[in-house]
Amino acid sequence: MLRLRPYPKENEALTEYLMRLAYMNSHFKLSNFLKSIKMDKPKAGRFGLWHTTQLTNLTKVLSIELGRDVTDVLQLHQRYSQTSWLYEKGRTFAELVVDFPRICTGCLAEEHVMDWRWGIATVARCPKHKLPLIDTCPQCHKPISWDANLFEFCPSCKQPWKLKASAQHFADIELSALEWKLWPEVDGTLLANSTLLADVTFATYVAARPFDMLIQAFSRVPYSANHSELILTGIQLLTSPEHRVLWDERCNSHLQDFTETIHPPMQFKHWVKGTYDESDFLNLTSFNERTEYVQKARVKYASELYDEIPRYHVDIFSLAKAVNLDIGDVTIIFESQTFPMVNTSFVGNQKMKFTKIFNMHYITGLISEFVKTPPYKDGYLTITAQTQSVIQHLCNFGDVVNAVLTKKIKGYFSSTSDLSQVIVPTEPFKIWLANMLKSSCHRPITVVDASKAIDCSNDEIILLVREKKLKWAKHKRKGEFINGSSFKTYLESHNSQTQT
Ligand SMILES: [Zn+2]
Ligand SMILES: [Zn+2]
Repeated sequence: MLRLRPYPKENEALTEYLMRLAYMNSHFKLSNFLKSIKMDKPKAGRFGLWHTTQLTNLTKVLSIELGRDVTDVLQLHQRYSQTSWLYEKGRTFAELVVDFPRICTGCLAEEHVMDWRWGIATVARCPKHKLPLIDTCPQCHKPISWDANLFEFCPSCKQPWKLKASAQHFADIELSALEWKLWPEVDGTLLANSTLLADVTFATYVAARPFDMLIQAFSRVPYSANHSELILTGIQLLTSPEHRVLWDERCNSHLQDFTETIHPPMQFKHWVKGTYDESDFLNLTSFNERTEYVQKARVKYASELYDEIPRYHVDIFSLAKAVNLDIGDVTIIFESQTFPMVNTSFVGNQKMKFTKIFNMHYITGLISEFVKTPPYKDGYLTITAQTQSVIQHLCNFGDVVNAVLTKKIKGYFSSTSDLSQVIVPTEPFKIWLANMLKSSCHRPITVVDASKAIDCSNDEIILLVREKKLKWAKHKRKGEFINGSSFKTYLESHNSQTQT
């Protein structure tokens, strides 16, 4: 049995209580303490998350160590499941309880108790001392570990807590109205609604990746040094026009080669749903990119073709917007691997089309080679997605763009951010189209494509089959595919008729 067996405090959750229990009984590392009280598989990390088996086992060993019924201790954990706003699917941070310890040095100097609310990813400061919560030692810069020494000093360098002047000056700054809304009552009641939480988590993420065009959600918040500063910077993004101007300028200088439609400030305006009163500019002017907020798969399995700078990563929706094409046409280009994917491990999985990532920097470089004015005035056609001759040859506009980018035909674009029209030399283009039609006719053709090509309805195609002018394709479901060579024959006779 443990020598000292305190009851939980009102503001403790399970891990915070265990930390105090360890401290009072002269144990320090939380994992060692759990081992010493003979937990089956002593938990060693992810202390924000306790599984049912871990809880069951803990109940057993704790009731022995405390010599009493420990329902009250386990209820500390239920606080999380009863506080509904802590988890919401679809939010930038789905789970708000973090796995790393965060502390108010002011509170710890007064009483050796950790408040459960310090572990919430949207809480930046202790309302009593107005100090930012720390997760990293201000002196040795090591992450603070789950070690009960933290009640007195840094478990790594053993120096007493001493905040930097930049953090200390917050003691004179009142919490903003928004920060107050994000600080829950001890029972979990929160003023902030789900829109506000969605906006704050999103803004916090943007503060971590200020120049990234891609936004990726996290189920658990990754550790990165000084999480509180990140939250405050996010809040500043929401509430300070001055800060947004600074950010906009920095984005323009970093991302000058790209169309503004995919610049982070544009996306920010689009995604933020609430409206926010202006509040003080907190003078957090650094725009440091935090690597912890780039999901490993994006850089780990990246193609070695080019340097991976996560800033330039885009998903297929942003890519389409950035080059002014529709998703279908972009898909044709990426499926032929002209627009390579960043994450090569995803190749081949069509279902995951929408999770694929592209490098805008590489793609812009690829297109720029074709951004020119044609050398002669005459003998060119301007092709767009509406050009009839393309559809009549069973092609998509994406095929034309792809043929230009892969140099199968000559072609010219007006800018790297606009592939919606391409100028091609007339004669070689006609030959290319004819060849495309020819090769398409080696395969069965869908009724939809066939009707588009000859500009008629699906029923008229069926009628043509009945009249034996077209044939159904073999080995395909009847009524859906036309035999390619019958279609070619039909086109040839149809064209010669219309020409005479
Ligand atoms: Zn405090
Ligand atoms: Zn330290």
